[in-house]
Amino acid sequence: MSVHVIGAGLAGLSAACRLAESGHRIVLFEAAPQAGGRARSYFDKQLGCRIDNGNHLLLSGNISTLNYLQRIGARHSLIGPADPIFPFRDVKTGEAWTLRLTPGHFPWWVFSNHRRVPGTQPWHYLALKKLLKAKPGDLVAPLAGGGALYSKLLEPLAIAALNTMPNIAAAQPLGAVLAETLERGGYAALPRWTRIGLSESFVDPALDWLRQRGVDIRLGERVSELRPGQTTVVALPPWAAKELMPELTVPDTFESICNLHFKAQMAAGEAGFYGLLGGMAEWVFPREEVISVTISAANRYAHMEQEQISGRVWAELSKAFGLNPEPPPCRVLWEKRATFACTPEQLARRPGPRSPRPGVVLAGDWTDTGLPATIEGAIRSGEAAAAALLQAT
Ligand SMILES: Cc1cc2nc3c(=O)[nH]c(=O)nc-3n(C[C@H](O)[C@H](O)[C@H](O)COP(=O)(O)OP(=O)(O)OC[C@H]3O[C@@H](n4cnc5c(N)ncnc54)[C@H](O)[C@@H]3O)c2cc1C
Repeated sequence: MSVHVIGAGLAGLSAACRLAESGHRIVLFEAAPQAGGRARSYFDKQLGCRIDNGNHLLLSGNISTLNYLQRIGARHSLIGPADPIFPFRDVKTGEAWTLRLTPGHFPWWVFSNHRRVPGTQPWHYLALKKLLKAKPGDLVAPLAGGGALYSKLLEPLAIAALNTMPNIAAAQPLGAVLAETLERGGYAALPRWTRIGLSESFVDPALDWLRQRGVDIRLGERVSELRPGQTTVVALPPWAAKELMPELTVPDTFESICNLHFKAQMAAGEAGFYGLLGGMAEWVFPREEVISVTISAANRYAHMEQEQISGRVWAELSKAFGLNPEPPPCRVLWEKRATFACTPEQLARRPGPRSPRPGVVLAGDWTDTGLPATIEGAIRSGEAAAAALLQAT
């Protein structure tokens, strides 16, 4: 079978790999000069080094992601601590603690006040059960309860995983993430990120792997209409999929993510990253040449100037980690439509892999994977689209 895959983000790459493995002839179209979509690396002239468009944190329970990396020979390009640990700093109070999960299925860590979130008691963690059992329409904040567990763990976790503020975010996708990671035990919740960069882990090895299997990769080639009768995987962002197929219902409200890359160094600490509370900065990744900071659900800061944001974030880092108060050069990257807003209304607009058109299937982090818009969701959507095509033929 000859298949056109449109879009070489992680969903398109994952679909192309799966179909190429089954021996099909694939043409992969990508509008941009490079593949990777919302997960890519590039050389930044201002900073004089290579950076990712945004920090991407994964968990060891992201099985589809690990299988994809295994398939393209990049399984060992992820790094992270040997133990499931999450260090936090509160920039307001100066408090520092580390969540130390225990490896096995039973959550022993909940019963140790050296391991659990300070200010919490074991029974507070029953909130996790509520999230695991969330129903459509449930929101995160009311299920998660209040108190220290919420402000110190569940709120930052929800904002990172859903890229949506917990008072409007749907609880079900967070429950799905928890079920595949924390609930399976600490070793399914090991934090992971790329050793060098997103392109080096997820994109370049996939392109090499596909080329070796004869896939025709056409970078810089935008597709503006679907060819009638051509078997196709549409692996585009939702707005681009809708342009090609106006009959689709797709998510249409988005949240931004702001990433700041400071040309400076700091100690990576025990885990190699930090969660920050009480300020604007949320996650800090000290890399070789830059300190990279993520702010998710960033629409709330859209009114601020970039220099104002970088100045405030550097002040927080300098206070939390004792860095030089003078701000270093910084690149601020706003991804305006980083993900769809993970609200119950938007979830109801997610289609499955099958489209109304025969021979055309859909992939993308916005399709109905049950997961939030993440790498794991994108890769899984590509597999689901490929499986739907293979089943139909
Ligand atoms: C800043 C940022 C931080 C993130 N952090 C995390 C994180 O920590 N953990 C995590 O798991 N996920 C994270 N994500 C989400 C993750 O990056 C996405 O879920 C994933 O990359 C989406 O992949 P995709 O293939 O579905 O879509 P895309 O990456 O958008 O791919 C679609 C591709 O289609 C191409 N295209 C568009 N129109 C056309 C056309 N007409 N013809 C041909 N090609 C076209 C685009 O150029 C693009 O390459 C983050 C995202 C951002 C932006």
